[in-house]
Amino acid sequence: MSLIVTKFGGSSLADAGQITKMKNIITANPDRRYVVPSAPGRRFDGDEKVTDLLYKLAEEKDPQHSRVFEILTERFCGIRDELGLSTDIETELQKIAEALHNGASTDYAASRGEYLNGLLIADYLGFDFIDPKDIICFNRHGLYDHAETLKKCPSVLAQHERAVIPGFYGSLPDGEIKTFSRGGSDITGSIVACCAQASLYENWTDVSGFLKADPRVVDQPQKIDVITYRELRELSYMGATVLHEDAIFPVLQVAIPIQVRNTNHPECEGTLIVPSISKETESKENITGIAGKKGFTIVSIEKNGMNAEIGFARRVLSCLEKFGISFEHMPSSIDTLCVVIEDSQVEDHLWDLVQEIHTVCEPDSVEVYNDMALIATVGRNMIRKIGISAKLFGALAEQNVNVRMIDQGSSEMNIIVGVENSDFETAVRAIYQALV
Ligand code: ASP
Repeated sequence: MSLIVTKFGGSSLADAGQITKMKNIITANPDRRYVVPSAPGRRFDGDEKVTDLLYKLAEEKDPQHSRVFEILTERFCGIRDELGLSTDIETELQKIAEALHNGASTDYAASRGEYLNGLLIADYLGFDFIDPKDIICFNRHGLYDHAETLKKCPSVLAQHERAVIPGFYGSLPDGEIKTFSRGGSDITGSIVACCAQASLYENWTDVSGFLKADPRVVDQPQKIDVITYRELRELSYMGATVLHEDAIFPVLQVAIPIQVRNTNHPECEGTLIVPSISKETESKENITGIAGKKGFTIVSIEKNGMNAEIGFARRVLSCLEKFGISFEHMPSSIDTLCVVIEDSQVEDHLWDLVQEIHTVCEPDSVEVYNDMALIATVGRNMIRKIGISAKLFGALAEQNVNVRMIDQGSSEMNIIVGVENSDFETAVRAIYQALV
């Protein structure tokens, strides 16, 4: 029998109405045996996520008598009552307040949103409840420990035909609760899918999958039907965020596809993320998607004969290292080398860095370009198609966009262009129109 792990995000479980939609989705397919919930998210603009409230609760001197505690009680008891359940939320909240009073950690506080929601959902579905503290392991440095998780998680899952496993947290070797970074329930879902050897990991959210471009920039962009893990990595890194970026790794190792779907439109197939696509089933599309970010600085270093000078790039990079700066790209030509850096990385050190490069590398000149944006055009099919770059650069030229940097990885799956921040939107639209 095939097995599907379903993860539901906070907006998909924000209130009793949303949780009812979730139940309909689960009961529609008996293969959906393991459910990984987030904490309830925002119900409307201006509403607070339960996880945010819990971080606030952790700051309270007297958690139990705080306003935040009242709000949390109303929120969870409200959901329980509307669903007609009898889960003892009051006692659970009492335990949480006491634990915090006795010094429990912020991670513990933050994790309780998933924990309480998991209890409610398990009751509502009639599924078993598995506490992730017993199966999701972190090492003593606080990093997720996959090897240790693999020792525990599969055997526990095998004892439960159907179960709810709250997302976002696990435990350290000493049993203390540890959370992933924000949005980390996506990672839990992926780990559970891996450990259960699922045939599919469904990630239910409030959008119908990934779009080919940001809808705030391009009017009604098309949906991406199928994307490979690698393409998704490239797009997510450049700002297309639907899934947590670390959610890919656990399923990637065992090649389980991920399907991103919309709880509010379950009839829509969403986006399927797969390890690879065979030639027979490959689509004719030029590109898979476009993503980009503003806020980069380009440091351009020029020196005649740079190409023959052994160790030049190493010396440039040693300057970055000295100031703890990481870089994004490093395109080069015979006598120039550019380093593309996120603004936040150089804010305090830009002029010290330039000075250091002058001293260590003795270049002919160093130029700094601020207010740059990067746009990545990603597509697994580009490697087989002639003329994609011509169309892309032609479209930019037609719109008078000055391309300040070009970087194409040797995998030919991604063409990155650097433009001025002010040209960003025009450039994205031009590329979309030319290639989609
Ligand atoms: N509830 C956590 C957060 O808001 C984790 C998650 O939803 O994935 O970040």
